[in-house]
Amino acid sequence: MKRRAVFMDRDGTISEEVGYVNHPTRYRVFPYSAEAVRLLNGAGWLAILVTNQAGVARGYFTEDLIGEVHGRLERELERGGARLDALYYCAHHPTVGEIPYRFDCDCRKPKPGLIKRAADKFEIDLKQSWMIGDRYSDIELARNAGTRAAFVLSGYGRGEWEYQRAAWKHEPELVAENLLEAVKIIVQSPKSNVQS
Ligand SMILES: [Mg+2]
Ligand SMILES: [Zn+2]
Repeated sequence: MKRRAVFMDRDGTISEEVGYVNHPTRYRVFPYSAEAVRLLNGAGWLAILVTNQAGVARGYFTEDLIGEVHGRLERELERGGARLDALYYCAHHPTVGEIPYRFDCDCRKPKPGLIKRAADKFEIDLKQSWMIGDRYSDIELARNAGTRAAFVLSGYGRGEWEYQRAAWKHEPELVAENLLEAVKIIVQSPKSNVQS
């Protein structure tokens, strides 16, 4: 049987939006994120991070630094008894930087490449899955990948929700204060009661 997943954005969603994280010490995981991921682990949902890190293409930092930052994130979640099943990132940019990172890839969100890659590897039922993020582009990503969209008001969320929503082409299925509140609602929704 195919599994359900909650895909989540990184900056502004599981951790603070601080601009480019060009040093691991700038990285701050939200205090509620371990509980959110632990809830997903306990309820049998795959918990998968998907993030654009075009700072690599722009020459602001290396892929090694992304690895260090994600190591920090995983250790912090582990201290809270939580575990991500996978972390996927796109380091590309279509027009900026040097080859191989200057590249019109299929994985720069809102393109669905990262989610498609995960769906193949973990045999995920995308229609029963969610994408959680703090930008409108995360909602577009959900549409492009065929998941449901949950919008959080952390990070850029509140500003986008209050000032830019009028221009949105798609509405999210769920709006929540933050990752934990979104996850609480998602894990409580029985399969059959959620529209696909
Ligand atoms: Mg974000
Ligand atoms: Zn990419």
